[in-house]
Amino acid sequence: MSKKIIIVGGGISGLSTAYFIQEQLTSLGNQADCYLIEGRERLGGVILTEKVDGFVIEGGPDSFLSTKPWALELCQKLDLTDHLIGTCEDQRKTYVFSRGRLEELPEGLSFMIPTQIRPFLRSGLISLPGKLRMGLDLLLPRKVGREDESIGAFVRRRLGQEVLERMAEPLLGGIYAGQVDQMSLQATFPNFQTLEQEYRSLIWGMLCKRREIQRSLKEKNSSKWTLFVTLRGGLTELVQTLTARLNRVSFIKGKPVVRIRPSSDSSSPRPVYHLTVADGETFQADVIVLATPAYIAADFVENFNPSLAAVLREIPYTSTVTISLGYKKSDFAHLPHGFGFVVPRVENRRIIASTWTSNKYPHRAPDDKILLRCYMGGANQEDLVSLEDRALIQIVREELKEIVGITQEPVLTRVYRWEKVMPQYLVGHLDRLTALERLLSHHPGLFLTGNAYRGPGIPDCIHSGALTAEKVLKYLQLSSGPQT
Ligand SMILES: Cc1cc2nc3c(=O)[nH]c(=O)nc-3n(C[C@H](O)[C@H](O)[C@H](O)COP(=O)(O)OP(=O)(O)OC[C@H]3O[C@@H](n4cnc5c(N)ncnc54)[C@H](O)[C@@H]3O)c2cc1C
Repeated sequence: MSKKIIIVGGGISGLSTAYFIQEQLTSLGNQADCYLIEGRERLGGVILTEKVDGFVIEGGPDSFLSTKPWALELCQKLDLTDHLIGTCEDQRKTYVFSRGRLEELPEGLSFMIPTQIRPFLRSGLISLPGKLRMGLDLLLPRKVGREDESIGAFVRRRLGQEVLERMAEPLLGGIYAGQVDQMSLQATFPNFQTLEQEYRSLIWGMLCKRREIQRSLKEKNSSKWTLFVTLRGGLTELVQTLTARLNRVSFIKGKPVVRIRPSSDSSSPRPVYHLTVADGETFQADVIVLATPAYIAADFVENFNPSLAAVLREIPYTSTVTISLGYKKSDFAHLPHGFGFVVPRVENRRIIASTWTSNKYPHRAPDDKILLRCYMGGANQEDLVSLEDRALIQIVREELKEIVGITQEPVLTRVYRWEKVMPQYLVGHLDRLTALERLLSHHPGLFLTGNAYRGPGIPDCIHSGALTAEKVLKYLQLSSGPQT
């Protein structure tokens, strides 16, 4: 009898898992049936593009990194390469709102560590005492031991409080929306720990690696892609194309899973999973892949493994909101320049960052309009996410007026709330993953994938999907060898 695989969750993680399973099943002559159950009517999870009056508006992610190859590779497999677009490099400047003004991020930074000394010394972003404190990194001893620590503790210890507050924290805020004093260094930036272990000083290490970095920068410059890439029609194009290709996967949409129960009998060492959706319908499967947020996966496993549920719940989630505003170009005497700005927490503002979308990407606004988007919420200001749309738009307009001097009336406003969608990799995250693997080993045929575990970016989720597909097929003994 053919085996049955059910994937729960139709975000990019669930969809890519389905894609890689289908790819293998096709080459093996379809020895299993694959289903994907999504709680909502819409697939894509936090990937959501809206097209309104000639604007292409991203509610969730707006691009992915080209340096992690998995999203680009998937686009290639889906024949989407011709639809990919890079950033507008003539606008390539990012600002930090610091001490009441927008300061340009100095050139040559590798995240927060300078790889070129001169632009950094000239920059007004860090004060002279802050720069001197940062220079102490050249003298400080390396930390003994390899245990995990928070990014906050690490940056403060090596480069000082000011670099943490004015560079590291705001740059990270845009990616993880988390609290730097709780976030795991090993799970987010393990290369910094390695740099300290190898070179003692981060700055010295970076300078030693400068040639290597310059070579890779040269490669990047000669590569077809800019650091961030997206699709001409928005990231929903990826979801739609992926879904259309999943012709051997049966989709069940608008039916949130509420319960999973394993059962086994003496005739087989492998359990069967019984899955119930909200309207009471039940399904049976040999394999279940949970591609939902970790706290939802925890609810499913609570009844048969409370310890597994407890570890899953140790991965907390934060909420964010994005607010997009469209303007008439003719209303501006001077158009904003650059990709946008980030805001350090110490500035006590209510927005975390702003992307000047139509500067950063082509085809995002009609020729006579501009599009901006602002981020609010995150671990430090989560309560803002529950404000009404009108209040959020009002706040954003006040902030843009004070920070950039934009007083013009927008011709378009859109608010997208994302509640409990951003997983936080806290100190000890890698130990938590080891514990999860150990606990999962008691439930053959049950798999976890998604942004909660080994990277929250779209390329990471796609890579995790490919690895999960490989494990599933190996479990069913259908694999024809390693993928990707
Ligand atoms: C505002 C924002 C901006 C971002 N920007 C970027 C960016 O620019 N670049 C980048 O690479 N990454 C970015 N990210 C991160 C990245 O988009 C996400 O980590 C990734 O898309 C998550 O995919 P996922 O499938 O793991 O989870 P999700 O997209 O959260 O999907 C989970 C799915 O599970 C479903 N589900 C939940 N419960 C049930 C249930 N009971 N039964 C059935 N289905 C259920 C949900 O409805 C959802 O569809 C951003 C994220 C956000 C929120």
